Amino acid sequence: MQEIMTGDNTKLGRLHAVIMEKLSSKYRTNTFGEVALGYTEEQAVREARRCLSCQNPQCVKGCPVGVEIPAFIKLVKERKYFDAIQKVKEKNSLPAICGRVCPQETQCQKLCTLGRKGESVSIGRLERFVADLEVERPVRVPYRAKSTNMRVAVVGAGPAGLTVAAELAKKGHRVTVFEALHVAGGVLVYGIPEFRLPKKIVQAEVDYIKKLGVEVCTDALVGKLFTVEELLNSGFDAVFIGTGAGLPTFLGIPGENLNGVYSANEFLIRINLMKAYRFPLFDTPIKVGKRVVVIGGGNVAIDSARCALRMGAEHVCIVYRRSRDEIPARHEELLNAEEEGITCRFLAAPTKFIGNENGQVESIELIAMELGEPDESGRRKPVPVKGSETVLDVDTVIVAIGRTPNPLIQSVTPGLKTTDRGTLMADKDTGKTSLNGVYTGGDIMTGEATVISAMGSGKNAAKAIHKYLMSKKRHRQVITVSRTHHQSIR
Ligand code: FAD
Repeated sequence: MQEIMTGDNTKLGRLHAVIMEKLSSKYRTNTFGEVALGYTEEQAVREARRCLSCQNPQCVKGCPVGVEIPAFIKLVKERKYFDAIQKVKEKNSLPAICGRVCPQETQCQKLCTLGRKGESVSIGRLERFVADLEVERPVRVPYRAKSTNMRVAVVGAGPAGLTVAAELAKKGHRVTVFEALHVAGGVLVYGIPEFRLPKKIVQAEVDYIKKLGVEVCTDALVGKLFTVEELLNSGFDAVFIGTGAGLPTFLGIPGENLNGVYSANEFLIRINLMKAYRFPLFDTPIKVGKRVVVIGGGNVAIDSARCALRMGAEHVCIVYRRSRDEIPARHEELLNAEEEGITCRFLAAPTKFIGNENGQVESIELIAMELGEPDESGRRKPVPVKGSETVLDVDTVIVAIGRTPNPLIQSVTPGLKTTDRGTLMADKDTGKTSLNGVYTGGDIMTGEATVISAMGSGKNAAKAIHKYLMSKKRHRQVITVSRTHHQSIR
């Protein structure tokens, strides 16, 4: 069996991006090994040479953490790869992750000047190339400012929390991250599957952040072990809450509690975090039948469908209530799923799940939808077509229609204001919450979004926390000086 798909790289020249190799679709559905294989050195340099090094680079404006894209690409052109990764890391502490999962096509690459006439420069693939070189070699000890002796507690070790921790550690603050799970990374470890984002890559980037002096305490559920108030009273000068949006949303239709109907959260956590795909080496059971239907159209739905296929399903169908044009998942991953044999049923929604006498789901009733007027999200609203119900036989259903914040911390922190969507109320530029010294960012503030937007809001919060800490420190010094002065007069 052909293991690698190389693509047609003969159309060279500025307008065509260098294609990245990936595992062949037949081969990859039998493995959780990474699908996209990354650029070789020669491919990376060839792709970097396509960059126009614009005087007024638009791509940088599309990057929520402000990576100096043309500057790092120029270093790749000059084959100065370790300088290139240092340049990226000035702004982004998780580049090997972002190079794999960021939706560059709707951000930096969307604004690339070259993209007006041909294909944009593959910024994400170049970022991954330089980041992977560093992952393969021992991580350099990064620069840290002199200690300020100010302490920060970060709650949640997802992309938002890790970014805040790295930024504040670089400024010389003492940072401790409290993570509820037994491993750091948030969705990067419990949601996104190994074949898109290998966990050794996440671990390497978490290790880099630890090298900055950040302490990571796992198995620490804030809100149960201790409260935010207790953190502030026990010597932490500020708290950042980056607890994400880990609560699954359900459809609320009949039959949703039948056996064989999973939330995508449970399904992905069992497979990715608890390693059900390596059963019996890891003792996590999961039952995946032959016919699987996934409800939803985001990255979570596509990841669930591709995991189901790799776990032995024969037919996997994604049911999405809008049309292909509105699907929110990354285009590249939708194409990968289709290459693997996953089918999509657009403009359809479930109305009920039907079970057998043992309480096991065995079919699903779907209704056709048509697109009406735009709703509050600006997208055309799906409207059911009367009398269009059909029934589909299934063994397993995975519901992937969205996630909301876990309410634990909000419920035990008096004065911490929330919105009616359950997110934390905060200043959108600084992440400052309704409580003094308490900041937030990532999905818990914005609602479910992307890795890079979580990192961007984390970065903004880190700037505000730094300012807050420095002013608190000055205030403390003034009090100490005036006390000493007062005592010497007496
Ligand atoms: P999270 O990543 O959710 O991290 C929050 C952390 O806080 C978790 O580790 C959690 O255990 C911890 N926590 C929660 N409560 C507590 C508590 N009380 N005490 C201590 N710790 C706590 N985005 C993309 O850009 N590209 C993609 O391809 C993509 N694919 C995705 C696929 C899936 C399956 C999912 C679920 C999401 C995907 N996303 C993707 C979205 C992206 O992963 C999230 O937007 C991002 O991870 C949000 O980061 P965060 O730090 O805010 O939260």
